[in-house]
Amino acid sequence: MTQTSSHESCTVVSGLGESSPGSHVGLDILKLDDHAYDRALSCVHCGLCLPVCPTYTQNGLESDSPRGRIYMMKGLADGIVQPTDNVIKHLDLCLDCQACETICPSGVVYHELLEDTRAKLKPKRHFSLTDKLVQSIFLHGFTKPLRLKLMLLPVRILQKLGLWKMIIKSGMTKALPAQFQKMQQMLPDDGPLWERALNAYYPPTDHLRDGKPRATVAMFAGCVGSVMYQDVNRKTIEVLQHLGCEVVVPRKSTCCGAIHHHAGEDKGARDFARQNIKAFLGLKKTPQYIVNNIAGCGAGLREFDHLLRDDAKYAEKAVDFVSRVRDVCELIDELDPPTPSHPVNKTITYHHACHLLHAQKAGDPPLRLLNRVMGLKIVPLEEADFCCGAAGTYNLTQPEMAMQLAERKIRNIQESGASIVVMSNVGCAMQIASEAKRLGVTLTTEHPVEILHRAYVG
Ligand code: SF4
Ligand code: SF4
Repeated sequence: MTQTSSHESCTVVSGLGESSPGSHVGLDILKLDDHAYDRALSCVHCGLCLPVCPTYTQNGLESDSPRGRIYMMKGLADGIVQPTDNVIKHLDLCLDCQACETICPSGVVYHELLEDTRAKLKPKRHFSLTDKLVQSIFLHGFTKPLRLKLMLLPVRILQKLGLWKMIIKSGMTKALPAQFQKMQQMLPDDGPLWERALNAYYPPTDHLRDGKPRATVAMFAGCVGSVMYQDVNRKTIEVLQHLGCEVVVPRKSTCCGAIHHHAGEDKGARDFARQNIKAFLGLKKTPQYIVNNIAGCGAGLREFDHLLRDDAKYAEKAVDFVSRVRDVCELIDELDPPTPSHPVNKTITYHHACHLLHAQKAGDPPLRLLNRVMGLKIVPLEEADFCCGAAGTYNLTQPEMAMQLAERKIRNIQESGASIVVMSNVGCAMQIASEAKRLGVTLTTEHPVEILHRAYVG
């Protein structure tokens, strides 16, 4: 790893009190990936990223800005900053929303630096029993649809019997740790007792003149998505069928690994990546496209080439896999579809999911498609590109900042005048809907595919 002999003044980060230039002798040095470290060097401290950073604009602390965090991470790698609780707190408060990357004129690939730092810091951290339990639920429960369905079943039964609301009203759940209360709050009021799996094959319902499917598509249904938002998965498939696509759902696909990757569990993330590559590229007919409708998962799938870059067997396959990945709106837009024939007479506003806009750089297609829907009025949303605080599992691990950001988002939605907010991410939908409920604000969340389904399929 490159080591510099002279370091910038620590005055760049105010209020940390953790380091001083040249104080690295005898201190821990966090050995970062060379690639990630070198990219940190391209930060010229211009500060252009500060006004787009949700945490910095919320609390005004340099140490909660991209520039401050880059300084800390580079300092950890140089041995001039120590991984104290205070430093870790500022790094943990980052949403990994990547808004800073979109605006950065120096091309700093911030998320790789952050994710590598988090992975390397993991062994140095102390977790409470509750933290360990919550993390275990994320890593081993949320990522397995069968386990998630089993965990949900008692709640669904209580909901069907009308007892769940009574339990909430009684205040019993307030005795739970904050993360569990947040999970309970995010749970939709209703849903099927046991979500059915998708079929393995869906033929096109419309064909090109020569009788061939317009495109062969393999659907990535997601782990949380296939339990909580299977309806959106079905509508995704039906819209693609309607537009002449043949859709398959690989039986052996698994979690995208984003939860593991963001938690610094890179080994688990790499295992998921290999399993998905086998499941999708090993299909009898290699699909032209691998489609998903959850921005966080799509961003995770697009990280496979980075995750497996040192894997001799999978590196090339991962590049091939990533070249086929599309968000559903990106794919529909690419297919140059006809104008939809059914009007949707509604007024909506649109929230940009960070992992679609910033991580996948695919923020335009949903709006381009929605703008073609007859009768649909789209009103502007102030700070539409600001994170809502969901950010994967951030709203469960950093509930206070997540709540502040959700309140800011909901205020902006109310000011837009629309009562329907559309977004391409199940995590954002659950965060905004649950926080609106807590605040007593009436609003509905929808996925763009739900509107496109009404417009195309009827
Ligand atoms: S915009 Fe880029 S170069 Fe400027 S401070 Fe932020 S990360 Fe550094
Ligand atoms: S990823 Fe988002 S929260 Fe983190 S430093 Fe960049 S803009 Fe701020």
